[in-house]
Amino acid sequence: MRIFDPHIHMTSRTTGDYEQMYAAGVRAVVEPAFWLGQPRTSVGSFVDYFDALIGWEPFRAAQFGIRHHCAIALNPKEANDPRCVEVLDELPRYLVKDGVVAVGEVGYDSMTPEEDEAFARQLELAVEHDLPVLVHTPHRDKISGTRRTLDVIRESGIPPYRVIVDHLNEVTVGLVADSGCWMGFSIYPDTKMDPDRMVAILREYGTRSVLVNSAADWGRSDPLRTHRTGQAMLAAGFTDDDVDTVLWRNPVAFFAQSGRLDVGDDIGGTGDVGGVGGVGGVGGVVPVEPTATFAGNSVLRGTRPES
Ligand SMILES: [Zn+2]
Repeated sequence: MRIFDPHIHMTSRTTGDYEQMYAAGVRAVVEPAFWLGQPRTSVGSFVDYFDALIGWEPFRAAQFGIRHHCAIALNPKEANDPRCVEVLDELPRYLVKDGVVAVGEVGYDSMTPEEDEAFARQLELAVEHDLPVLVHTPHRDKISGTRRTLDVIRESGIPPYRVIVDHLNEVTVGLVADSGCWMGFSIYPDTKMDPDRMVAILREYGTRSVLVNSAADWGRSDPLRTHRTGQAMLAAGFTDDDVDTVLWRNPVAFFAQSGRLDVGDDIGGTGDVGGVGGVGGVGGVVPVEPTATFAGNSVLRGTRPES
């Protein structure tokens, strides 16, 4: 099983997570920019974070055999903080970078006028930069939030096939299925969707335009939920090809619209080829290259390799 997790916040995850993800078949991820829990107090804090998303984190992921890409945006929650909004002026210089495959995550948290403005402006930026968009839907007032989200997307003029509407569930999937946007589902340990509910949705709506992610972050979450969903699909009678469509080919097709996706020929097989060093494979552990450095730092956290 080869897996592309299209929404995961690796900044908040450990080296052990990378090793387990690799062993479960994860070969590529997209990390959308989001809220860190601790409120940011200045634009500089975003700048350092964005730099890490295009610099250190892809370097770290590569040490564990995983291709890392990111989406850049002002997240919906911090769109309400006047100390953060100026970051919108910094976005254009990030949206032209190689590892940036989308604008995101944007959308609504509390559906305030400030969120309206940041959302609309970032949809414009996506059109200007010819990038797809990853849209977060609110956890509260989910139905009205999703309706309003789809209205704003329609008004922006961005083609719906360039947009993924994420964090869907049984009550919102129908709205998005009719819109022409891609449908994202975050599979969590104990809230929102679980693997069995996801299988039921796939039975009803099919695998077309459906992406499954772990949305793992600093909260209670599990970076292996994508793999568990693949297993639940197989147990329910879906084929290996169906699983590959949902967990690999659909996210590849969506983010390839950026023209910047690099999943490499070496991981084109069905989960049986290794990443860094060409060894490992599903169930194996990819060898870490401890001597590699990024801006002078290695994953050995400052220890200098013997020369
Ligand atoms: Zn997220």
